Amino acid sequence: MSKNPKGLWRALEQLADGAVMAAWSRELGHDAERARSFLILANGLAETYPCMNVFGCGYPHRVEERRPGQWSAMCETDDGCPPFTVANKDLFVFAADVKKLCGRISKALGFEASMCRQVAGVRVVPVGTYGAAHSNVYLLFPGDSARMAREVERLFGVQPDPFLLLTPTGIHCSAEVESALRRQSCMHIAMSAALTLADDGSLSPSRVVESLLNEFQRRQADRRALVKTLERIDRSIEAVARDKYNLQKENEELRQLNNDGYFKFAVRVKGEDFLAFAVIMALGNRKAAADHLKIPHRTFYNRVEQWATRGKEYKHMVRYMEWRKRSSRHLKVQLNPSLQSGEAGDQPENPETMADVLTEIKVADNKDYPALLADVLQALERQNAGNWMKVRQELVETIKEDVMQ
Ligand SMILES: [Zn+2]
Repeated sequence: MSKNPKGLWRALEQLADGAVMAAWSRELGHDAERARSFLILANGLAETYPCMNVFGCGYPHRVEERRPGQWSAMCETDDGCPPFTVANKDLFVFAADVKKLCGRISKALGFEASMCRQVAGVRVVPVGTYGAAHSNVYLLFPGDSARMAREVERLFGVQPDPFLLLTPTGIHCSAEVESALRRQSCMHIAMSAALTLADDGSLSPSRVVESLLNEFQRRQADRRALVKTLERIDRSIEAVARDKYNLQKENEELRQLNNDGYFKFAVRVKGEDFLAFAVIMALGNRKAAADHLKIPHRTFYNRVEQWATRGKEYKHMVRYMEWRKRSSRHLKVQLNPSLQSGEAGDQPENPETMADVLTEIKVADNKDYPALLADVLQALERQNAGNWMKVRQELVETIKEDVMQ
């Protein structure tokens, strides 16, 4: 903070819209000479003039033209502040030369001048763009803090991308507005803290501005990371939804195959052969099935090997098993702990896990074998949702080929 409250930035905060040179000089203080180039003559003559009386009222005097070119500045208060004479040229109005100001700010802080556009309905001045992301930089002469809050709110409404907002001194930027800007990954910079005015009227960056701009860049990086995370979450939700949808379709398809009688062959094989087959389908290979059923490997293999030499239904089972073997890379089975610990529990109506299905197979003496096969396939599918599409077509072809024979 400057020890001297007067100066270019404070003057701009108060008088940017226009004032007579006497008012500017008073507010510019020590900057009066070098800041002169930031002022530009505006249209019209002033209707008031600052009180110039020592120990005067301190309020603006109303000017009246006594004779052409001769004006009297009359006090409007009751404390008898004497009138004084002002010349025509003293009433010329000067405003901030915003274009020149923006140009010198851009030069000092490395903004690109051309790309920032005027924002309709908001009183900000486009200064330029900053950084690799070409973030817009705006200049605002807030007037008071309520108006600053309002303008920032409007700016958020029309400018969704993060921006830098400059004000002359920051005195009108409330803590609420600061944090609203932070939440939007934007940043407010008070020019009084960021820029120093040299004798030749040029502006140069102060030490603090570098860390402010770095902080702004960091907010952009955080924001990009957040956006990426959100996109990733979005994508995975979409993928899960898609998988779930596909899985539902598959489930329907399996149920339909069963309803259409494609698994009927199962009722025409001997119970113990079907159960051996169902366990192989569930666990993926003969060895695991023999272990699960606690049947000596050789005995179990002999049983299975005979199927190839028997009737049509047995040959179906062989082809299913071949499919299952080919697919075993894609179809893995994990039993749930309750089965591994040997607790069978009640038979579930809709088996959710492969362990449930195995329990179902174990207690199924001669019941609905086609439904049981559908359950096995469904459990495989549930456990391997992501891979099911890779193996389903072959299964469907296997089933249909058999039926055509
Ligand atoms: Zn006065």
